[in-house]
Amino acid sequence: MPRPPIALVLGALLTACTRPAGPQAPVHTPATGSAPRPTTPTARDAVGAEVLATMDATVDPCVDFYRHACGGWLANTPRPPHRPVYSRGVDALAERNRLVLRDILEAAARGDGDARLGTVWRACMDEAAHERAGVAPIAPELAAIERVNDEASLWRVVGELHREFFMGSGPLFTLIPQGDARDPDRWVATLLQGGTGLPGREFYGAPEHAALRAEYQRHVARMLGFLGEAPAAAAAQAARIVGFEGELAAHMMSPAELRDVVKTYNPIGVVGLQALDRATPWRRYFDALGYPRFGADLQVTTPPFFAALGPLVRRTDPATLRAYLRWQVLNSAAASLSPAIVEADFAFTRVLTGAQSLAPRWERCVDEINGNLGELVGQAYVARSFAGASKATAAAMIDRIEQAFAAGLPTLTWMDPDTRERAREKLSSLTDKIGYPAQWRDYGSLKVAEGEHLRNVAAVYRFEFIRHFDRIGGSVDRGEWRMPPAMVNAYYDRGGNAIVFPAGVLQPPYFSVDFPMAVNFGGVGMVMGHELVHGFDDSGRRFDSRGVLSEWWSPAAVKRFTAQTGCVEAAYGEIEVLPGVKIDGKLTLGENIADIGGLKAAHAAWRSWRRERPEPPAIDALSDDQLFFLGFAQSWCTQITDEALRLHVATDFHSPPEQRVNVSLTHLPAFWKAYQCGPGTPMHAQPAACEVW
Ligand SMILES: [Zn+2]
Repeated sequence: MPRPPIALVLGALLTACTRPAGPQAPVHTPATGSAPRPTTPTARDAVGAEVLATMDATVDPCVDFYRHACGGWLANTPRPPHRPVYSRGVDALAERNRLVLRDILEAAARGDGDARLGTVWRACMDEAAHERAGVAPIAPELAAIERVNDEASLWRVVGELHREFFMGSGPLFTLIPQGDARDPDRWVATLLQGGTGLPGREFYGAPEHAALRAEYQRHVARMLGFLGEAPAAAAAQAARIVGFEGELAAHMMSPAELRDVVKTYNPIGVVGLQALDRATPWRRYFDALGYPRFGADLQVTTPPFFAALGPLVRRTDPATLRAYLRWQVLNSAAASLSPAIVEADFAFTRVLTGAQSLAPRWERCVDEINGNLGELVGQAYVARSFAGASKATAAAMIDRIEQAFAAGLPTLTWMDPDTRERAREKLSSLTDKIGYPAQWRDYGSLKVAEGEHLRNVAAVYRFEFIRHFDRIGGSVDRGEWRMPPAMVNAYYDRGGNAIVFPAGVLQPPYFSVDFPMAVNFGGVGMVMGHELVHGFDDSGRRFDSRGVLSEWWSPAAVKRFTAQTGCVEAAYGEIEVLPGVKIDGKLTLGENIADIGGLKAAHAAWRSWRRERPEPPAIDALSDDQLFFLGFAQSWCTQITDEALRLHVATDFHSPPEQRVNVSLTHLPAFWKAYQCGPGTPMHAQPAACEVW
């Protein structure tokens, strides 16, 4: 498995709207003019034809709206063999964005653009150089690991690796920078549980994952062969490595527990961390990391994990620890090494996700560069793909959605007047960020070299690590974005009480100034509503208008809110997506609240927009409302392998795309009305719709 791009490591605690897959966004017709303008008949006809071709009108919309909206696309769109998940929204958009980014990188490599982009692109694309280098690019890390012979040397080497190679996200645990939840202007270091190779703690214990675990162990052994281990020795080491990872996993919180913002807020500082286990030489780690004095500016999300870590390390023999560290380095670097190693690494990805083939090298290079140098390549991307009226139209839509959300507050019967007033206050201090940051990141001191792909990646990691951690104890930079502009995603920033929409998602099929506004509101409008509602979901509601984690609700309101969210938890938690595989209602609760509430706000906003600016019907056979709901559903049409679906349900905070569409609509009376879905039809919730916002 490749190391995650910087954007994902730093965004570890973000509430994002789509799955944390590959970066990217699309090519789109540059718009002209500065105000929203009527769409041209030709563009309108083209959109209409595509909406009709995407749907399957033979499926009753009141029985299965997802198949009604997406059936045509699902029947006619083969999933590319290298994509275990392929959607008409995120993935098709990412595919088009990759073409734009490739153009930018190729131009830079020809001397037309940022020279460093040209250098990293050439180095990444040079397959012959990867072949020649073998495992030589990780020789410095492997040599450092050989120095581990006791507890003190282990913690020192882990500190060096975190700083020089992993950007804090690697062996044993993860270290990230973020705002303090109770003092959101203060920038602090935060320790997260981590250090395992399988995608979640349940993969190490649950009997249903025994076969996958065995496959993983064989994979580790095969990979260790590339470091020169004989098969028998590699197999023995793999068994010990997987055993050690299993012990780490045994002390982890579940993904659903990690959503508890109070339980995971532990501002205990270095002194408190040391008190969890007196014997652990944390001093060695922080010295090697280059930050010996975090002092009180250190927080720990899961103290029990860190209390258990020291004793676990002490009872593990140094040979196993060295093998574990070698595996950590090899595993994270594998995707950047020789073609044989890349293929062997992919063999396990295939087992895990059901992808049949590796993505072409150029796609992998584009994704990696967008994920790691997003604001360098993003400047040219924005210039090409986010011109004209896009920003003004998106801003006007967000305004309208915020107004619709505010207008809905008095109708929520579970709310008391005090809580309602404070919710209004929080809404009125919400900030919108659209397209790209006002100030681009300064990459001034970053140095990259020709022909050294993996060392370039490590250099970018180190650059970001130092840039972030040098500021610990200082104040949060509110202008900084935690997502690259060319990414197909969006997020809610709890500490800043801001919603953020990169240019990468403000593209077809989610959005275009040439689309009928019904399609825009159903597409990106729903995403905007979704991010806004994150400010008020079961974890976002705990942060006040200044982004401070505090109890600003009356106990009675909390009780009633919890009853409403219980309805959502039950509605999704009963759904079996594959035999024996059920959605986790607790894990996905925040996203599901955001989906239902966001869709409702986007729809109300669309209705009010249309009253003021009527449009001619885009498609004769459809009402405006129907077009809105199709615009929404069709941006989530998705082909997915069973393996990827199983993995999604186990690890992702979102419900799978089909349920994101069908369940949220089932709980929206405006949808029943648009399609006349009466009580008793599957798309009409019984006995009543779940309504939180
Ligand atoms: Zn979300």
